[in-house]
Amino acid sequence: MADPKGFMTTPRQDWPRRPVEERVKDWDEVYVPGALLPIISKQADRCMDCGIPFCHDACPLGNLIPEWNDLVSREDWRAAADRLHATNNFPEFTGRLCPAPCEAGCVLAINQPAVTIKNVECAIADRAWEDGFAPPRPPDRLSGRTVAVIGSGPTGLAAAQQLTRAGHTVAVYEKDDRIGGLMRYGIPEFKMEKHHLERRIEQMRAEGTKFRTSTAVGRDIGAAELRSRYDAVVIATGATAWRELPLPGRELSGIHQAMEYLPLANRVCEGELETSPMSAAGKHVVIVGGGDTGADCLGTAVREGAASVTQLDIYAQPGAERDEDAEPWPTYPKIYRLSAAHEEARDLQTAPAADADARLFAASTLHFTGDADGHVRSLHLTEVDAQRSPMPGTERTLPADLVLLALGFSGPDREDGLIDQLGLEMEPRGTITRDAGFATNAPGVFAAGDAARGQSLIVWAIAEGRAVAAAVDRYLTGSSRLPAPISPYDRPMTV
Ligand SMILES: Cc1cc2nc3c(=O)[nH]c(=O)nc-3n(C[C@H](O)[C@H](O)[C@H](O)COP(=O)(O)OP(=O)(O)OC[C@H]3O[C@@H](n4cnc5c(N)ncnc54)[C@H](O)[C@@H]3O)c2cc1C
Ligand code: SF4
Repeated sequence: MADPKGFMTTPRQDWPRRPVEERVKDWDEVYVPGALLPIISKQADRCMDCGIPFCHDACPLGNLIPEWNDLVSREDWRAAADRLHATNNFPEFTGRLCPAPCEAGCVLAINQPAVTIKNVECAIADRAWEDGFAPPRPPDRLSGRTVAVIGSGPTGLAAAQQLTRAGHTVAVYEKDDRIGGLMRYGIPEFKMEKHHLERRIEQMRAEGTKFRTSTAVGRDIGAAELRSRYDAVVIATGATAWRELPLPGRELSGIHQAMEYLPLANRVCEGELETSPMSAAGKHVVIVGGGDTGADCLGTAVREGAASVTQLDIYAQPGAERDEDAEPWPTYPKIYRLSAAHEEARDLQTAPAADADARLFAASTLHFTGDADGHVRSLHLTEVDAQRSPMPGTERTLPADLVLLALGFSGPDREDGLIDQLGLEMEPRGTITRDAGFATNAPGVFAAGDAARGQSLIVWAIAEGRAVAAAVDRYLTGSSRLPAPISPYDRPMTV
C-alpha cells in the first residue's frame, strides 16, 4: 500500500468509454485507447490491503488482488504481471469481460465505490504484453503423455495451456474454423477485439499446443477413436443448446436465436463476410431476454443501423442499491446496471416505446404476427407481476422485423454424437456428470467448463480449465503441482 490514505483522497475513476456517437460507428472496443494506464496506479492505491481480502475470495480464480494492487501502485509492472499470471492464464480476457464479482466483495464497497479491480487487471495484462512480460513458457521436458482437449473456448484453452506447460503433448480439437469458442463468434468485437485472442493462441502454439480446427469430435472423428489415440481426453465443448420460445408465430421468418445472429456479425468483423445476412440495418428489432447475450445483440443491432431496438426482460427492474437483507455484502447483488450497449441505446433513444435505456422490464412475449409473406412484423407482449403472471390490460404490440431470442442455454449440444459415443452420464438439467476430480463415467475422460457446470462466465471457465488440468495431470502422473482453484461443486456468490 504505497499511500495508506489513497482510498480517502482518490475517488474511483473507471476506464473512460468513447463518446457514444463515435463508438457506434465502428466495432472497436468501447474504451478510450491509452486512457487507462495514466490513471491506474492511483486507482490501485485505493486498495486498503484490508487483511482479509474478500475480493480474492470472490474471484473464482483466487486472483491475488491486494498483492498486485500494491505492485501497480508502486509501478512494478513486471512483478504485478507475474503475480497475475500465477492465477490467471488470460487476464486480458477477464480484464475486459468479467462482471467482476471481486468488486462486489471489495471491503471499500461496503460504503464507497469499490477499487477498480477489473481495470487494474486489464492494465497489468496489457502492459505485460507491451513490455514482453508474457513470453511463451514451453516445458523443460516432455512427459511422453498425450491429451486431447475437445473445444477451444476459455475452458479448453486454459486446460491446454496448463497441461502443455506441465510437459504433456496436447492437441485441441475445435469444430469451428477458428479458435476461441464463444469469445470468437459469440462475444462482439466491441467488448473484446479479437487480436487479444490471436496473441494468446500464438503464445500457446509457441509453447507446443497443437490446434485442429474444423474438426467436430463425434462427427469428423469418432469419440472412441480419439479416446484410444490419447492417454486422456478433456471435454470442454461449452453449453450451446439454446432455449426455445414455442409461442404462436415462432415459425415466421425473421425470428432467430441470438447465437445464430451474433456469429454472423462477428464474421463480418473478421473479414469473412461483406455483410451479415441477418443484419439489423433499417429494421425494428426486438430482443427477447434481459441478460448479457441480449445486451450483446443490442450493441450489435445498434452498430448495424437498426431503425429501433427494444430489449425485453421478464424480471422487474432491479433497484439501484444492494438489498442488504436479501443479498448482503460481499455477495454479487442484482442491481440495475447500465452496460455499454444500454448506454448507447439510452443516448441514441433506440426504443422510444421502451424505458430510457431500451429495456422493457417485467415484459413477457405472448405471440408474433407477420405479413402475407410469412415474415414477422409484430411482437405482442404483456406486463407480468413478480410471479410472472400476466397483468390484464397491459398488452402491447411492438413493431418487429427482426426478433432475437436470448433466453439462455440448457447444456452441451448433443448433435455431434460425442456424448452418446462415449456413453456419458448426464445430469437431469442437461450437463455432463463428473465426480469431484472432474472425471466422467468414461475412463480417462474428464469434463469441464460450461459443458459440465452449465452456462457460466469466462472467469469460471478459466478456473475450470486450470482445475481440470490439475486433475488430468494427477491421473497421468500420479501427482500434480498444477494449481486447482475450484472444485466442481464450488458455486459463485450469485453471479
Ligand atoms: C453472446 C455471449 C456473450 C457472453 N459474454 C460474456 C461476457 O461478457 N463475460 C463472461 O464472463 N462471459 C460471457 N459469456 C459466457 C462465456 O462466453 C462462457 O461461459 C464461456 O465461453 C464458456 O467457456 P467454455 O470453454 O466452457 O465453452 P465455449 O466458449 O462455448 O467453447 C466451447 C467450444 O467447443 C467447441 N465444440 C463443441 N462441440 C465440439 C465437438 N464435438 N468437437 C469439437 N469442438 C466442439 C465449440 O465450437 C466451442 O468453440 C457470454 C456468452 C454468450 C453466449
Ligand atoms: S477475474 Fe473477474 S473476479 Fe477475478 S479479479 Fe478479475 S475481474 Fe475480479
